[in-house]
Amino acid sequence: MKSMSDAEFKKHEDLCVRCGRCCRAKILWFDNEVKLGDYCEFYDRQKKECMCYEQRFTIYPRCRTVLQSMQEGGMPEDCPYVRDFPGYRSQVKEFQIKRPL
Ligand code: SF4
Ligand code: SF4
Repeated sequence: MKSMSDAEFKKHEDLCVRCGRCCRAKILWFDNEVKLGDYCEFYDRQKKECMCYEQRFTIYPRCRTVLQSMQEGGMPEDCPYVRDFPGYRSQVKEFQIKRPL
């Protein structure tokens, strides 16, 4: 697979507005509802950044790639990575956008 150039990688990274919502725990609740838990311990809410970004998958194995999070429905539907992705639906009620019928 072709890897991204530095410019493409930066463009990809810059899509993130650092809201940190995808860094909140997802908890499977009764009736299979998925609720939001706390922010990851490595998310700095004041600086709006991950404190271990470069090593995140080693330091925090529960961290998800964008693709994994998309596949699991863990991204908010207005997140720039998924908002134009046809058919994307978040599993988290608070992350769902009301769409016109
Ligand atoms: S939800 Fe999207 S914009 Fe917000 S931190 Fe996660 S990847 Fe970035
Ligand atoms: S380790 Fe992953 S889930 Fe935790 S703050 Fe960093 S990017 Fe978010």
